[in-house]
Amino acid sequence: MKDFLDELEDELSGDSRTRISQEKVQVSPEWNTQKPEKVAQNNIQKRSHNTSLPQKQYKNTPQNRRVTQQGNNDEKTYHKYGRKIIEFPETKFFLPTLREGYTRYIPIGGNNEIGAKNMGMVQYGDDILLIDCGVQFAEPEMLWADYSIPDVSFLTKYTKNIKWFIITHAHLDHIGALKNILPVLDMPVLYGTKLTLWLVKKAITEVWLLPYAKFVEIDAGVENTTKIGQFQVEFFSVNHSIPDCAWLYIETPGGAKFVHTGDFKIDHTPRLDKPADFERYEEIGNRGITMLLSDSTGSTTKGFSMSEKEVGDTLEKIVSEWTKGRLLIAAFSSWISRVQQLIDIAEKYDKYIFLSGRSMVENIQVAQKLWYLSMKPWTIKKLTAKNTESIPPHKQIIITTWSQWEEFSALQRMAEGKHNAITIQAGDTVVFSSSVVPGNERSVAGVINKLLRYGVKIITKADAPVHTSGNAYQEEQKIFVRLFRPKYFMPIYGDLYFRTRHAETAVQSWVKESNVLLLDNGNIIDFAPNGSVFRSKIKVPIQEYVIDGNGMGLTTSHVIKAREQMMNAGVLVIQLTVDKKSRAILAPLRLETRWLVYVDEVRYLHKVIIKKTREIYENTVKAVPDMEEKDLLRILRTDLEQFILKRIEREPMIIPIVTMV
Ligand SMILES: [Zn+2]
Repeated sequence: MKDFLDELEDELSGDSRTRISQEKVQVSPEWNTQKPEKVAQNNIQKRSHNTSLPQKQYKNTPQNRRVTQQGNNDEKTYHKYGRKIIEFPETKFFLPTLREGYTRYIPIGGNNEIGAKNMGMVQYGDDILLIDCGVQFAEPEMLWADYSIPDVSFLTKYTKNIKWFIITHAHLDHIGALKNILPVLDMPVLYGTKLTLWLVKKAITEVWLLPYAKFVEIDAGVENTTKIGQFQVEFFSVNHSIPDCAWLYIETPGGAKFVHTGDFKIDHTPRLDKPADFERYEEIGNRGITMLLSDSTGSTTKGFSMSEKEVGDTLEKIVSEWTKGRLLIAAFSSWISRVQQLIDIAEKYDKYIFLSGRSMVENIQVAQKLWYLSMKPWTIKKLTAKNTESIPPHKQIIITTWSQWEEFSALQRMAEGKHNAITIQAGDTVVFSSSVVPGNERSVAGVINKLLRYGVKIITKADAPVHTSGNAYQEEQKIFVRLFRPKYFMPIYGDLYFRTRHAETAVQSWVKESNVLLLDNGNIIDFAPNGSVFRSKIKVPIQEYVIDGNGMGLTTSHVIKAREQMMNAGVLVIQLTVDKKSRAILAPLRLETRWLVYVDEVRYLHKVIIKKTREIYENTVKAVPDMEEKDLLRILRTDLEQFILKRIEREPMIIPIVTMV
């Protein structure tokens, strides 16, 4: 096994090798052995002074923050935990007072999007417990920013009250924003299952936060009750599309009893996890659940989702009937049970597995390290041109990443003939053992078309059951509602359409229609000790923050708007050199345009724009000879905008420059 891991490490880039070795050094066994109460207690002691919720006059000046001023502008760079961290702007918003004995829930992210940015908070007294912290991959309106993260600006003044983060599972829409948000909230202790925490560690190691993080590992497969602050929390194993997922039972001293499903499906024959333990589920249901918060991702599909076993059976049938060329399986890199099924099949039919794509290699590496996978030492071979040439093609199963958000996922590179170890050949078979993320249909079709040109055989889930959903369909959702029989029901993880469908399913199976809580991100609900619910008229202001390189900004910011303008109509820069005193133009005007018009139009249009700019400038200076430069520039820009719009019906970004000499 060791050889295989070493080989995989070699395949990673130098950069990621450094990160992995860092991980090995930093991960001391102590985080594994610490008792939950002890770690939590230590953490509380560290932050124990005055943890009551800040009131309105509170000033946000944390002691350990060093603020440096950059150059002459007002931008501030904040250093914390040895590195620059993003900084949410201070907000004037304060959480409304929570009455004694009441329990509060606020969805922070994930309720206005689908499969993205999941995050919520539970508050009792002065304690705030956070659940999950995911990203949203770039949407077209983010204009190639990297990803967007939950808006926690309102929480930054409550860092003393936020000591704990519960993570339900390791998908990026549940953990991806931790690397940005953990330091902003002063590194709350992370609670989760073994695989989840390892993948969290991997993510935060990338930004060098591991030495500052604290973890409490929970085995969701055995009975457990963890006291987290004033909250009583139990973790339960649940089936999904990555191993070691948990759903949560959270009870507060005020009598609120929440069940939070995380992402879930019901699979009676999963490959790596255990089937759902309905007896334990029902026992929780018998406690009298105040509110069920349930995953809405699959809520628009009728029936039951297929078992992972059926996918395995189909893949086995494909392998048993396959006689020539190589077999490429395109799969999501976190679907570790799918990889295990392919390992089982390869060993049964005397084939070899190659892994392609960094995230696939890294995830399998972690799963291997933690003994989630079982395999013979020789089944997985290192993906090199030498190895693929020395093994007959029909003995090679190549499992490749297929992240449709990444332009350069391994399969995409292969389809474009840019992969360093795999050249697609006529006679190969490509199986799409994955679903199409809504909105990505065209890019998927584009990759399939490129592959078909090589003469390969394509198999998708439209041809055979080579993929199943990791999220419950309507009938599975009904089973959860029936098992927990909650008084109130809150569909989570989905936009209004998905949540509304889920609400209908819940009402059909148990919940009173008036007890459905359809909450947008930022809505606040408080549960009284007698179980009644109060929906606050006050809403947390939640905005759309994007991460772009090292920086962060709002999607409504002028930067994103300017990018949109440049993308839509190009850029025009015009420079005038004028006499400081007389304001007379001293030299020919210089005009540069980018992506403004097609080549044929350029020369003529340039002449016209230069003439018009000269005219606008001279008329303006004649009317007001001592006009301030910024006003002059504004007039030049707006008049040129109107002129160009009329002339070519386009609205490029216009940048006038007046150099006075
Ligand atoms: Zn998930």
